Amino acid sequence: SANLAAIFYARQAGAGAKPAIVWNDAPLIDYAGLPLMAGRYRAALAALGVKRGDRVIVKTDNSPAFVYTYLAVLAAGAVFVPMNAAYTAAEVALLIEDADPVLLIHASATPVPDEAAAPVRRMTLEPDGTGSLPALALTLEPDLAVETVEEGDLAAILFTSGTTGRSKGAMLTHGNLSSNVAALNEAWRFSPEDSILHALPLFHAHGLFVALHLALYNACTLVMLQKFSAEQVIAKLGRVSVFMGVPTYYARLLADEAFDRAACASIRLFVSGSAPLLPSVFDAFEARTGHRILERYGMTEALMITSNRYEQEGRIAGTVGFPLPGVSLDIVDADRRALPPGEVGEIEIKGPNLCAGYWRRPEATAESFHPDGFFRTGDTGFKDSEGRVSIAGRSKDLIISGGFNVYPAEVEIALAEVEGVVDVAVFGVPHPDFGEAVVAAVIVDREDFDVTKLETAAGAGLARFKQPKAIHVLAELPRNAMGKIMKSELRKRYAGTFT
Ligand code: ATP
Ligand code: MG
Repeated sequence: SANLAAIFYARQAGAGAKPAIVWNDAPLIDYAGLPLMAGRYRAALAALGVKRGDRVIVKTDNSPAFVYTYLAVLAAGAVFVPMNAAYTAAEVALLIEDADPVLLIHASATPVPDEAAAPVRRMTLEPDGTGSLPALALTLEPDLAVETVEEGDLAAILFTSGTTGRSKGAMLTHGNLSSNVAALNEAWRFSPEDSILHALPLFHAHGLFVALHLALYNACTLVMLQKFSAEQVIAKLGRVSVFMGVPTYYARLLADEAFDRAACASIRLFVSGSAPLLPSVFDAFEARTGHRILERYGMTEALMITSNRYEQEGRIAGTVGFPLPGVSLDIVDADRRALPPGEVGEIEIKGPNLCAGYWRRPEATAESFHPDGFFRTGDTGFKDSEGRVSIAGRSKDLIISGGFNVYPAEVEIALAEVEGVVDVAVFGVPHPDFGEAVVAAVIVDREDFDVTKLETAAGAGLARFKQPKAIHVLAELPRNAMGKIMKSELRKRYAGTFT
């Protein structure tokens, strides 16, 4: 069957007594028990009236029961709709109206709208494994049947992170998910010998479709955390071979002096993605641990798109590597003509990883999908002469100053080279002469930081039109729930600087 749950279970056969999930420092369930437990949850979903094609919303922090629920929804042929646990009741109400679910499963501590604002059946699922859903599941016999589906059938609707505007629901099929995990499995050389420390949120593509999928695909032991903390990660890294994170995780690990070579002794692979990894962080990480972080590029709508090569020399700072097998990636100008190496343009992609469109948003779908099947990522980038891709920033964040294009990533990378800078965001604000002016916001790790060093670095490395006309040292950068920098907030905050 093309059902992803069936693919996972077939590949897990024989893993038997191997721990599937380690939780609170103890093995919780093994690979023989996992389908049985998920089967009970599947029986509970059936008892609650969930049928093939129905949407089921899950809004809770990471927990083993999240994984059982996910497998149960897949096995039922229903559509999994995870939601950021931090979303407010008002945000959830909009998404419920949009997704039109038959069931809302949530932790009591996470905000949800009341019944009047969002009439949908609810069950609770707490991070400690209690709640009305598990209570029901545990009274039922496991339903081990896995619904037969086609590759093109919907498996999940994932809402984008909302970094550039209102979140859109990407319709992901069983074929999207299974082809992508198979591609990553090859590219990153996974085997059943691996074990993964999972600190990423399971409601987002990175945690769900990269980290969790690779574990389920190989019957790897998953050491799960409810959420990221540098201290917890440092304490548990020694038990695993793989760790995946967003760039801020790596910056936070480096900020902790206890993080050193010894803490990473068992690791073969560190992966970064979901936002740009600064070369300065890549370098500091290598100097501290001896490990080169492997950066990849992806998005909710297309899962993983490119990856650096696995070999140490193939993990290169400032690039996201090559398109995964089966993925076509073009860098194009405004007329969709392919650009030569080194020239920045919009990134378009096509492949088995690309979602079936935006859920119930035909205009948004038509805007982003070309008739020839290529998808406009909304990101800009360039290829080198070997075809390696680098991201220059989002199209919406492009700065046009004095008629010249300024790609934020280039300026950010130059400023991050200055000692003491731990994070940086470059954005444009209105300027009476230049149209837009380049502005930088930085976070530094010392009180006596000398801002003129940034001006010197920019002056030495960047053409004048790319140099920031204002630099702000901030205590923190505005981030959304996925930890992504919200440049729209910065643009708003500093809009009046020159006007
Ligand atoms: P929204 O689409 O709602 O504005 P979002 O684009 O942040 O939110 P996601 O799908 O979670 O939602 O993120 C995908 C985006 O993250 C990509 O389009 C790209 O801009 C960025 N991204 C992912 N990986 C990388 C990377 N390695 N380097 C730079 N940017 C990356
Ligand atoms: Mg996006």
